[in-house]
Amino acid sequence: MNGIVYKSTGSWYTVKTESGEFLECRIKGKFRMKGIKSTNPIAVGDYVEYDLDETSDAVTGVITTIHDRKNYIVRKSVNLSKQLHIIASNIDRLFILVTINNPITTTSFIDRLLVTAEAYGIEAIIVFNKVDTFNEETLDEQLFLQHVYTEIGYQCIRVSASEGKGLDKLKDLMRDKVSMFTGHSGVGKSTLVNALEPSLNLKTKQISDQHQQGQHTTTFAEMFDLSFGARIIDTPGIRGFGIVEMEKQEIGGYFPEFFALRDKCKFNNCLHKEEPHCAIKEALDNDEIFWSRYKSYTQILEGDEEHYRSDIYAD
Ligand code: GDP
Ligand code: ZN
Repeated sequence: MNGIVYKSTGSWYTVKTESGEFLECRIKGKFRMKGIKSTNPIAVGDYVEYDLDETSDAVTGVITTIHDRKNYIVRKSVNLSKQLHIIASNIDRLFILVTINNPITTTSFIDRLLVTAEAYGIEAIIVFNKVDTFNEETLDEQLFLQHVYTEIGYQCIRVSASEGKGLDKLKDLMRDKVSMFTGHSGVGKSTLVNALEPSLNLKTKQISDQHQQGQHTTTFAEMFDLSFGARIIDTPGIRGFGIVEMEKQEIGGYFPEFFALRDKCKFNNCLHKEEPHCAIKEALDNDEIFWSRYKSYTQILEGDEEHYRSDIYAD
């Protein structure tokens, strides 16, 4: 029988069955994983096959198979520093919440998240929140950023989570998809999720209450069904949006506007820095590539891994 993993607490997995019920499942013995060495064999978002466990008095299941993942995001294991922990899998959309001030979201932060999403193969959408607070200056700034990212090909939407504006458009983008939200602390993630689905707030709150009582030292990702036909993966306690390890040569490939031009560079291993006849630098000189994007590119290129990571996780 088939199901989807909605929650994982280490040894037990909550699987939503095809009939829509939730079943607590275990895995039997050593579960072999293809491809990746991780501390957890199964993650939220996984499509699995299970059998009912005949040996148990309570109705529980045993996961027998995990289907190939379309993608997954990882973090370093808390205990085993060399190992990876899969936070979640099969994610369709990453919504990057951006505020112009209070808190300030820099283009460098946005671009790092976009690069991470590109590397993971997840469609990123930029959500400008707190549009109700804009004055002339912040409105100008927001519209310029929207122009930049729309030109590159990213969808942008404008919302006010606290006033409930722009939510229909957001719901349309979330419908029939698995979504995650990210952004600096204070951009309005909780307010937005609460505005989308008031009853959900309760659940997330319970999780953090337990946390405050010290019952859990680790928090776990969890998937929720929303009433308008969308699914959301909440990652309480996990700041940022996973890590990604990249070779220098790869980075340009995660900037879509560079990618389109790179066959035109003289050297096929061009890093678009000091090399002669670089199509990216030429495009930059002709204002066909935005300076902020090129700057983010060079920052990622030059930043060591730790710098890159700490930036992704910056709150
Ligand atoms: P989180 O840390 O991303 O979960 O952010 P919160 O949802 O806790 O929001 C941080 C603060 O911003 C709270 O005081 C919210 O009331 C406020 N806030 C969130 N969305 C909006 C918005 O659209 N407009 C305004 N004016 N304030 C907002
Ligand atoms: Zn080049």
